Amino acid sequence: MSGWARLGDETAALLGRLGVQGAAITHGDRPVASPITGEVIAHVHDASVADCARAVEAAQAAFLSWRVVPAPRRGELVRLLGEELRAARTDLGLLVTIEAGKTLSEGLGEVQEMIDICDYAVGLSRQLFGLTIATERPDHRMMETWHPLGVVGVVSAFNFPVAVWSWNAALALVCGDPVVWKPSEKTPLTALAVQALFERAARRFGDAPAGLSTVLIGGRSVGEALVSAPLVRLVSATGSTAMGRAVAPVLAARFARALLELGGNNAAIVCPSADLDLTLRGVAFAAMGTAGQRCTTLRRLFLHDQVYDALLPRLKGAYASVRIGDPRESDTLVGPLIDPASLAAMQAALADARAQGGVVHGGERVSGPGEGIFVRPALVEMPAQTAVVLRETFAPILFVMRFTDVDAAIALNNDAPQGLSSSIFTNDVREAERFCSASGSDCGIANVNIGPSGAEIGGAFGGEKETGGGREAGSDSWRAYMRRATNTVNYGSTLPLAQGVKFEI
Ligand code: NAD
Repeated sequence: MSGWARLGDETAALLGRLGVQGAAITHGDRPVASPITGEVIAHVHDASVADCARAVEAAQAAFLSWRVVPAPRRGELVRLLGEELRAARTDLGLLVTIEAGKTLSEGLGEVQEMIDICDYAVGLSRQLFGLTIATERPDHRMMETWHPLGVVGVVSAFNFPVAVWSWNAALALVCGDPVVWKPSEKTPLTALAVQALFERAARRFGDAPAGLSTVLIGGRSVGEALVSAPLVRLVSATGSTAMGRAVAPVLAARFARALLELGGNNAAIVCPSADLDLTLRGVAFAAMGTAGQRCTTLRRLFLHDQVYDALLPRLKGAYASVRIGDPRESDTLVGPLIDPASLAAMQAALADARAQGGVVHGGERVSGPGEGIFVRPALVEMPAQTAVVLRETFAPILFVMRFTDVDAAIALNNDAPQGLSSSIFTNDVREAERFCSASGSDCGIANVNIGPSGAEIGGAFGGEKETGGGREAGSDSWRAYMRRATNTVNYGSTLPLAQGVKFEI
C-alpha cells in the first residue's frame, strides 16, 4: 500500500512539473490505473461529443491562419516543442513508465523518439518540395505545389502513448495542419502532459493560433466523433485491426484520408549462416521487450533445421532468466501487461496453442510490486503455423517453428494476414537480398540481422494488408499531410491544347 501511495504522489508531482493543472487529474470520472501496481493514480475528465465538435471548429479556424504562415516559421514552433521535450525528457519518460508500464529505458526512448521527429520536422519545414515536369506544350511550365491539407485527427493506442502523436503532430504542424488528438483511454495522463508541453512551446513561439493542438480524453465514442467530423481531412489511427475496420468505412464514406497503423504479427527467419549470438539478442529484445506489447513485437520465429537445436535451448535459457518486475527499476527487462483483459487474451492464446499441438514454456503469472499483472514471456514450439499463430495476441508469446527451405520460410512469413514488420538473420547475401526483394517479405518493414522492432524515425513506418497501409514518420510520409496541386502555366501568347486537340472558335 505504501508503494501505491508513493506512486500516486510521484505521478502528481511529475504532472505538476510537466505543467498539468491539478484539477485536470483529480476531479474527473475516469479512473486511471498504473499497470505497475493496478492502483488508481488519477481521475480525469472525459471529453463529450460536443467538446469534440468545438475542438474541430477551433482547429479549422486555426488552419485558416496557420496555412499561410511560412513553413520554416511553422518549423520554429516544432523546434521549440523539441526543446521542451528535451528539458522534460526524464519526467515524461518516467510518466510513460508509470502509466503504460514500459521499462524506464523504453519510456525515455519513447520521449527521445519524440525529440528525434521534432528535429526531423524542423529540417523538413525547409524542404517541402514539389517537382517541375516536362510539358508537351511550347512556352508552358508544369509543376506541382504542396499545400496544407486541413485538420488532422490522431487516434492513438496505449502502447506508444506519446511517440505516435509526435510522429503525426510534428509533421502535420510543419505541413500547416492543426491536430486534434484522441489518445488511448488507458493513457490519458501522458497525453495531458504532452499537451501542456506543447502549450509551453506555443507561448514561447508567441503568435500560434488557438486550437492548433487539442487533446480530447475519452474512449471509443470520442474517437468515433473525431473520425466522423466532416472538417477532419485526415485521420491517423493507430490501434488494433478491429478498430481500423470500424474507422476505415467511416472515412471512406466521407472521402477523408485514412492513415491506418494497425496490428502486426511479425516474423523472423533464422538461416544456417546466421550469427547466433547476435540473433539471440535480436530475438530476445524483439520478442520480450515492452512485455510483447509493441505492434512490431516478434511473434513468429522460423528456425532452420540446422540451427534449431543450437538456438532453442539458449532462447529457453533467456526466457527462464529474464528479469521481470517493476519497470522503474533499472535492471528490469519485462514490465507488466497493461490490464487483466490482456492476461486473459494471453492465457486463451496459450490454451489454443496447446490444443493445436504446441509445447508451451513459461507464460505463467509471476508476482510483482502490487496488483499489477506480470507474466513470464512464453516460448511455444509449434508443429506448424496454425490458426493461433496467425492472429495477433498482444502479449509476450513467441511461436517457434522449423523450416528447411528459405523460400518456404518467406512464404510462411507472408502467410499472415498482417504485414507490418519482418526480419531475416543470415550471412548469406543471396538470402538477405531475396528477403528484401519483390519476391521476398511482403511487409512494410523488412530487416536483415536486426529484429523486427525498434524502428528509427528517418524511415517511413507502417505496414501492408491488415496493418492498414499507412506510413508515418520519415522518408516522404509528410505528403499524407498535404494536398498536391498540379499547376500548368502558359507564358506564351497562343493556346495549344494537350494531345494536339483542336478547338478553334
Ligand atoms: P485499440 O484498437 O483497442 O485502441 C486504439 C485507439 O482506438 C484507442 O484510442 C481507442 O479508444 C480508439 N478506438 C477504438 N475503437 C474506435 C472507433 N470505432 N473509432 C475511433 N476510435 C476508436 O488498441 P490498443 O489496445 O490501445 O493498442 C494495441 C493495438 O494497437 C495492437 O493491435 C497493436 O498492434 C496496435 N498498434 C499498432 C501500431 C502500428 O503502428 N501499426 C502501433 C501501436 C499499436
